[in-house]
Amino acid sequence: MKMHIRSILSSYLTRKPISKSPIFRSLGQNHFFTSSTSRSNQVITCKAAVCWGAGEAVKVEEIQVEPPKSSEVRVKMMYASICHTDILCCSGFPLPLFPKVPGHEGVGMMESVGENVIALKEGDLVIPTYLGECGECENCKSGKTNLCLEHPLTLNGLMLDGTSRMSIRGQRLYHLFSCSTWAEYMVVNANYLVKIDSRIALSEASFLSCGFSTGYGAAWKAAKVEKGSSVLEGARNQGAARIIGIDKNERRCEMGKNFGMTDFINPSKSNKPISELVRELTRGEGVDYSFECSGIQSLINEVLQPTKVGKGMLIVIGAGNNASMDINFLTLLLGRTIKGCIFGGIKVQSDIPLLVNKCINKVIEGAQNQGAARIHRQK
Ligand SMILES: [Zn+2]
Ligand SMILES: [Zn+2]
Repeated sequence: MKMHIRSILSSYLTRKPISKSPIFRSLGQNHFFTSSTSRSNQVITCKAAVCWGAGEAVKVEEIQVEPPKSSEVRVKMMYASICHTDILCCSGFPLPLFPKVPGHEGVGMMESVGENVIALKEGDLVIPTYLGECGECENCKSGKTNLCLEHPLTLNGLMLDGTSRMSIRGQRLYHLFSCSTWAEYMVVNANYLVKIDSRIALSEASFLSCGFSTGYGAAWKAAKVEKGSSVLEGARNQGAARIIGIDKNERRCEMGKNFGMTDFINPSKSNKPISELVRELTRGEGVDYSFECSGIQSLINEVLQPTKVGKGMLIVIGAGNNASMDINFLTLLLGRTIKGCIFGGIKVQSDIPLLVNKCINKVIEGAQNQGAARIHRQK
C-alpha cells in the first residue's frame, strides 16, 4: 500500500484559492480585521539565519524586512526554537525553495500592524502558528480536524498575496510556512498568530508553537487517549497507564521520565526489532496507541505491528523526506487504524490558550527544560 503524502498535501492546499480568502472578501467581518491602529512604513535591516540551498549550513546574514501589508503584522522575535521539520526544510522538504529563513517556533512582540488589523496591537506577545482557525468553515465546524479551509497550511514560502516580505542584497527570501522565526523581525498574516498571556515563561511558550503542542495534541486531540491505555509516547495528562518511549539517544530516557514515561527502549542496544521489544514489554498484548514522530519510512511498520489487534491505532506526527511509504497490508487488515495529523490536531485559536493556562498553572511542566534558544533579548 502506498501513501502519497505530497500529493495529499497539495490537494489540501489547493482546495481554497487564496484570492477567495475571507480576509480579502469581507474586511471587517473577520475577528482580526476591522479598523486601523499603529503601523510602520519602515524597512528594517536586521540579522537572520539564512539557508542558501538543500543541505547547506545555515548562515547568519543581514536581511531586509518590509513593513506589514494591510492584513499583516511585523513581530520582533524574542525566542526561537528548532523543530525536526526545520532541519527537513533546510534539506529541501517539502519544496526546494531557497534562499529561505527557516524557523516556525518562537515567541515575539508585536512591532507594527497593518491598517486592517485591530485585535493585535503593538507590544502584544504572540506565537506564530502555521495553521489558522476561522471557526466558520466546514472543517472548523466539524469538530473532527484542525485543518481550517480558510487559513490553510502554506508551503510555497510566500505571503498570501504571493510575495515575500524578506530580501537579502536585493534577492527574495522565502518564508517557512506562514512565518520565519529565525530572524530578529518577521512579517506574518494576522490569522496565523496567537496572542499569549504574558505570565507564561516565554521559553516554554516557544515550544507551544509546534513541538510540544504537536506531541501533546497527538495524545489529547488526535488519538483521544483514554485513561488506563498503554501508549508508545506522551499522554500522561490523558491518564495513560503505561507510556513507552523509544529512542536511540539514551539521554532521552531521563528527559522522557520527566514527562511521565514509564518504560524506555533503546533499539540500538538490542538485535531484536522494535515491534518485538514492545510486545515483550506488554506480555504479547501490544499497545493501544503508538505515535511515530520521526517520519522515517522503515519505522512505520515497526510501530504499527505492536499495536493491539482489532483496535490499535498508529498516529503519524512527524514529517519525513519520503513521498510515499509501504504499509504491511495484513497488519492493517487486522483492525488497526493509521491516522495522520498536523500540529497534533490542536486548534490554534481554541486550544493554544488552554495549553498556555496549563503551563502557567504548572499542569504542564518540563517544556522549559528542553532549552529554547534565546535569539534576541527583550529591551
Ligand atoms: Zn476554518
Ligand atoms: Zn515543527
